[in-house]
Amino acid sequence: MIPRLKGTDDILPPESARWRRLLRAFDDLAERYGYDLALMPAIEPTELFSRGVGEATEVVEKQMYTFEDRGGRSVTLRPEFTAGIVRSYIESGGQGIVKLAAAGPQFRYEQPQKGRRRQFFQMDLEYLGETAPGADVEIIEFSYRLLEVVGIEGIGIHLNSIGDSTDRIAYREILRDYLHQRESSLSSEARRRIDLNPLRVLDSKADADVVYDAPVPIDHLGSEATDHFDQVRSMLEGLGIPYEIAPRLVRGLDYYNRTVFEFYSSSFEAAQSSLGGGGRYDPLAELIGSRHPVPAVGVAMGCDRIVEAMPMVGGSRLDLYVVVADRTHTVNAMEWVARLRCRGIRVDWDVSALRSVKAQFKAANRCEAVAVALVGTEWSQGLVSLKVLETGEERRVSVKEVEEWMKQH
Ligand code: AMP
Repeated sequence: MIPRLKGTDDILPPESARWRRLLRAFDDLAERYGYDLALMPAIEPTELFSRGVGEATEVVEKQMYTFEDRGGRSVTLRPEFTAGIVRSYIESGGQGIVKLAAAGPQFRYEQPQKGRRRQFFQMDLEYLGETAPGADVEIIEFSYRLLEVVGIEGIGIHLNSIGDSTDRIAYREILRDYLHQRESSLSSEARRRIDLNPLRVLDSKADADVVYDAPVPIDHLGSEATDHFDQVRSMLEGLGIPYEIAPRLVRGLDYYNRTVFEFYSSSFEAAQSSLGGGGRYDPLAELIGSRHPVPAVGVAMGCDRIVEAMPMVGGSRLDLYVVVADRTHTVNAMEWVARLRCRGIRVDWDVSALRSVKAQFKAANRCEAVAVALVGTEWSQGLVSLKVLETGEERRVSVKEVEEWMKQH
């Protein structure tokens, strides 16, 4: 027996039913909002993340699955989607507005616990090539609707603006001074960060007391960032999307500017409780080699945590199970099953053509089918017995009627 690696999961039935529901909802909604599908490499040059995400970030410093491939290149299993998607935009010519949706596994070497896995799944949206605050709002609104559609309760949004790069240069100095003055009360991790990446100290739980009174980015925004943020807020209000200002929310990665946000739910409480997060990242494209700026905004929603917060869904997995009682009609049954499937009905049957009627009924119950159609001698007259499993109600009906009945249920 070779067990799976720590921090990875086998996602199997019955839990996988909720995953299917979530991924379908994401795909449907993305199409409805005009986002095209992007299928991205799971492995990228290490430099993409060290330059894009930032050397002094937790992800790059401690969590990447980095190794040398057989050709001597340093490669990394993607810890996030954004840097790869922006790379693909630049590599394919980098022009105009592109809206992309991607979903798949990410890899981070974390201390595994509830909602914190080493292989985890994200659903990701990126709005590339747009400066307007409406793009930030669309990304936030989409994420909110997705959580709503899959039944998440008590959805909360933490929203902040960290300003533009120029605003941050000035603000960083103010924050550094503040932190240096209180250095002796800070954790060693926070002390190390003062010069490297002081903004990260703001969301350090271990330093919450010191940080409580620290100057916050939102009080040091330039006029353009202020105007952008005001517009984001009023549009969200217009759309009826509730949010809270979280002045110490900065997000872990280096590439963000202006709007940043995270999603929470009252039905998922854990040490790491955010269901998703994102923001505007206008500086990223140039960090990874674009010759011109690419304004953009995106979100990454965490599937593992969202699934945990989703309600259990009852309901049937199949519309119909076809039981063959008269073996002379096995081939007819097979052809009928194929026809029903082509019409979009969820149908299964016993392909072995060996098991007893009782065993086939057991299988129908196991599959949580709505009804069973029994194919017996009366098939020759175009008839089957239809039994509704929940009520036990049984009647003889024509094959055509079964199809009509299925459409109504
Ligand atoms: P991040 O890229 O860190 O902002 O993550 C975006 C979302 O992905 C988070 O809000 C989580 O829902 C999810 N996420 C991040 N890291 C993990 C992890 N190690 N395990 C499970 N979900 C994660």
